[in-house]
Amino acid sequence: MNLELREKFDAVIQRVEKARIRRSEHHIVQIVAVTKYVSEKEIQELYELGQRAFGESRVQDLKAKSEALSDLPIEWHFIGRLQKNKINHLIDLEPWLMHSLDSLELALEIDKRLEKKGKKMDCLLQINSAKEPTKAGIEPEMAYDTYLKIIEETKHINLQGVMTIGAHTEDKDVIKKSFETTYKIYEALKPHGAEICSMGMSNDFELAIECGSNMVRIGSLFFN
Ligand SMILES: *Cc1c(COP(=O)(O)O)cnc(C)c1O
Repeated sequence: MNLELREKFDAVIQRVEKARIRRSEHHIVQIVAVTKYVSEKEIQELYELGQRAFGESRVQDLKAKSEALSDLPIEWHFIGRLQKNKINHLIDLEPWLMHSLDSLELALEIDKRLEKKGKKMDCLLQINSAKEPTKAGIEPEMAYDTYLKIIEETKHINLQGVMTIGAHTEDKDVIKKSFETTYKIYEALKPHGAEICSMGMSNDFELAIECGSNMVRIGSLFFN
């Protein structure tokens, strides 16, 4: 057993636990371990500690790692920007959840390919909550309507909720605001089936949980 990894894993779980209880004792948070920095070996070690959900941000890495570890019952999450020419590859990998659906146009394109392959895909709508030009995602003002349009206009995409990356700044208030913006949209979408609010990474997951996140994506805390 990798003792150093075990310590890091336990520390993350305890921090998540404390943050979720600050929100509410009934608030449950799932941890997705982001493994884009590491190889199959580290994924397997984390698996042996009990982790089941893993996230990758590139389709080719997701393919290589999920195929190498196909014996393990892992939930694979896709969290990166999806290029059009990778859509079919991603569908074939049957990810557990795709976090980064970032436009109606992409949704329609994925839906077309899913139709052809006779498959479905669970997805989250990615929101550019701090309106950063370098970031993917739907503008917050457009997110609600786009979510409903995707439900209306696609048959093979199952929208499960929303995802955001916290504002890229040291200013906690600004980060918090980006999480609150996303949470508000999530709440408005609950009557339309939204169940997952994916927000929070190594540097800001506690704040995200306090703002209502029920899925955090943590990488560097495990592997640095
Ligand atoms: C890399 C990445 C993460 C994990 O980031 P850390 O800061 O290493 O925890 C989470 N979400 C997305 C979309 C990422 O690309």
